[in-house]
Amino acid sequence: MYEEILPQIITTNDTKLLLLVLDGLGGTTNENGVTELEAANTPNMDALARAGSCGLHRPVGYGITPGSGPGHLGLFGYNPIKYQTGRGILEAFGVGMQVNPGDLAVRGNFATLKDDLIVDRRAGRIPTELCRKLVAKLREHIKQIEDVTVDIEAGKDYRFAVVFRGPDLSDKVSDADPQIVGKPPKPAEPLAPEAEKSARIVNKFIQMATEILADEHPANTVLLRGYATLPDIPKYEEKYKLRALGIASYPMYRGLAKLVGMDTPPVGETIDDEIALLREKWNDYDFFFVHIKKSDSYGEDGNFEGKVKIIEEVDAQLPQILDLAPDVIVITGDHATPSVLRAHSWHPVPLLMKGRYTFADDARKFSERECAKGILGHIPAEAIIMLMLADAGRLLKFGA
Ligand code: ZN
Repeated sequence: MYEEILPQIITTNDTKLLLLVLDGLGGTTNENGVTELEAANTPNMDALARAGSCGLHRPVGYGITPGSGPGHLGLFGYNPIKYQTGRGILEAFGVGMQVNPGDLAVRGNFATLKDDLIVDRRAGRIPTELCRKLVAKLREHIKQIEDVTVDIEAGKDYRFAVVFRGPDLSDKVSDADPQIVGKPPKPAEPLAPEAEKSARIVNKFIQMATEILADEHPANTVLLRGYATLPDIPKYEEKYKLRALGIASYPMYRGLAKLVGMDTPPVGETIDDEIALLREKWNDYDFFFVHIKKSDSYGEDGNFEGKVKIIEEVDAQLPQILDLAPDVIVITGDHATPSVLRAHSWHPVPLLMKGRYTFADDARKFSERECAKGILGHIPAEAIIMLMLADAGRLLKFGA
């Protein structure tokens, strides 16, 4: 946001900014007329809500249901429509692969080929264990195609990710996937002249994989789609003059944080592990992104109580975070995942901000309903970091 004037107004000081993201935090009312956040007992967040400013944010736009990729880019202050991260990148991030500028990241499926027709696009949903074995086999035999090196990593069930690394790669390639069963394999085609090499490499990969898998059943071929190269995205250090640390247990979120220039050391699975890392690194950075995944997972499972419990767990740990005395703290989600919907949704997301100069508004509790009374109003996700920077004294006056 405000990319054209940021360089004029951004400045530095020794403040610490903390963005705590409960993935899929937002909800909508269930049959009892309450959301997960309303049902949760959250004395610490409620106290912070009374002391600070509340509002609701809109992750991508009105009515738009965001994936976690665009959801986070918005929170990080980037227009998620301008800076789109293709599925291949997110898939590669999700399995912990590195993607560098110029690399081509692709999603893969194991599939079943019979009498020259694709008869199952998911190879009978083979278990992850078998997927790992097959990926190891492919990895052993496909290391390089022309001047392009090939990295392969297993995902869940029948899924895997491939990253092609080499000169002149392009994502303007059609999906090598017939989409419906009973059709012959569909080769990748270049969608632009500069993509001829990429299409050739992808097709060669599929041919080699199919030869290597010839004796396997049901996973005897592969489908590739969702080609993506890295968006050219300005990094936190240059854009906001912030040294930023991303703390997330799940690789996909470390990948997203890394995309905007955050350092992303690996961390254990629990909230405790994340807070331990936060304490350890507190003196080394200006901006901290802490990601909690399970609120979203429970929402997607339709587990209202589970989501409530995670919110309560985070609330119980909040004093430990506040002990570090961040100058500005924001607690929010990257999108809503109402358990009544069992999916991400377009609903606005509760937002709580406490800084040195935040207006103590009339929101008495951290919840959708109370946040709707808050002084921040309904704002685009991209605006959040601007408000954090302003409160921290990191934005100079614009114009004379
Ligand atoms: Zn999410």
